[in-house]
Amino acid sequence: MESIICIQCPVGCKISVDNIGKKLKITGNKCKRGEEYALKEIKNPVRILTTTVFVEEGIQKMLPVKSDKELPKNLIKECVKVLAKIKVKAPVKQGEIIYKNILDTGVNIVATRNMERKK
Ligand code: SF4
Repeated sequence: MESIICIQCPVGCKISVDNIGKKLKITGNKCKRGEEYALKEIKNPVRILTTTVFVEEGIQKMLPVKSDKELPKNLIKECVKVLAKIKVKAPVKQGEIIYKNILDTGVNIVATRNMERKK
């Protein structure tokens, strides 16, 4: 049995997923969205990645970035390692792609703020 807290709305239902034979039994959800969320969490959990990367010649040393789509949860650590090794050069515009197609996932990493060049 697995327990999952549904994060699809503020109610935060505690959902249980039981393996009964070849079928999954889902209980504790107050609506269909919770069932869909629990199934996704069991079969293919995904997350938006948020982190920072180093900046050269910027007014700050770190630039906040995020993935433009959800990434498989099991690749998040590997993606963070990749991004920890890169440096971007200021100036950077919010929304600019910082890293394309990370780990061949089809997901891009984008800047979440502007970063001006140091004067
Ligand atoms: S199961 Fe439905 S009501 Fe419960 S937290 Fe998820 S979305 Fe909200």
